[in-house]
Amino acid sequence: MNIQGTEKQNVYIPLQQTNIARIALIITLMLTLGVSGLLTMTFAARARNTQDPRVSIDSNRSTIQLEAQPSPTPLLLPSPSPGDPYVQTGPLPPNLSQAIAYLRSQNHLLYNGNTFLPEIALTFDDGPNPYYTPQILNILQKYNVKATFFCIGRLVAAYPALVRQEYAAGYTIGNHSWSHPNMALLAPASIQLQISKTSDAIEVAIGVRPTFFRPPYGRMSVQELTQVYHDSLTTVIWNDEGQDWARPGVNVIIQRILRLASNGAIILMHDGGGDRAQTVAALPFIINGLRQRGFQLVTIQQMLMDLRHYTNVPTRDNTPPGSPLPLMIFAAWRHEPVK
Ligand code: ZN
Repeated sequence: MNIQGTEKQNVYIPLQQTNIARIALIITLMLTLGVSGLLTMTFAARARNTQDPRVSIDSNRSTIQLEAQPSPTPLLLPSPSPGDPYVQTGPLPPNLSQAIAYLRSQNHLLYNGNTFLPEIALTFDDGPNPYYTPQILNILQKYNVKATFFCIGRLVAAYPALVRQEYAAGYTIGNHSWSHPNMALLAPASIQLQISKTSDAIEVAIGVRPTFFRPPYGRMSVQELTQVYHDSLTTVIWNDEGQDWARPGVNVIIQRILRLASNGAIILMHDGGGDRAQTVAALPFIINGLRQRGFQLVTIQQMLMDLRHYTNVPTRDNTPPGSPLPLMIFAAWRHEPVK
């Protein structure tokens, strides 16, 4: 008969019901864990992406977007920043382009700052000058702009109060050699003297040694870069200038600088070394023009910190290492020597 079969059915039905209940429970658990895991990953990713308020990832377009404004208030450190310099004693590559490429890869040589950030550095060379530097300082303070001064050592020794005033205002003070020679042509002992005497004079004036160096005329040699490297200085060139040293006219200076302005630009101007009346007249228009385009004006110290800090986007500069030097450097070689 079917007694045996009925018993089997009676036994299996509860068994099947129990198994179905277990399977349903496991599926429910897996779904719950999966959904909560996904939520956790999403929130973690959102938290990571929002750490830098200036950078947002657009997942629909797979692009990195930067908001020109508003930018966060920069961390303004007095500069040069004590404790920041790197220490290097090893040799650089013997070839100049390789030495430059190596230093750039370490952020020890800059043509520009972070090209993903809407910030620009105004830099003034060949001062301090007792006539023009105070005028530049007045404009910078009136517009609440941070800037960088690459000073001539012998002028620092002559006018230390002006350098103290620059430093007290939160500006970065850099070394621009003692007497503005073409240092690429000097012997190692002379190079060392040009750099160390200037750093000494700056230290006497403001109490700390500089951490940045700009070669006169932008001229570089392996011997020069090696000395700079061993003195823990970061070399700063530029990628935007109006050739104000040639006095081409106020409007020309303004237009050239604004045309070349871009994220991470380092702008070269002069507060010494000759008649700088056109630079003084152009400066307010340059500041307003850059701000209208959404750029924040920062010191070289801030620019270097932002290169190191924002590691979630490609940093350093937009020119591959070893590429030809920007043309404006060759143009700047002609700029008049300091008298
Ligand atoms: Zn110079």
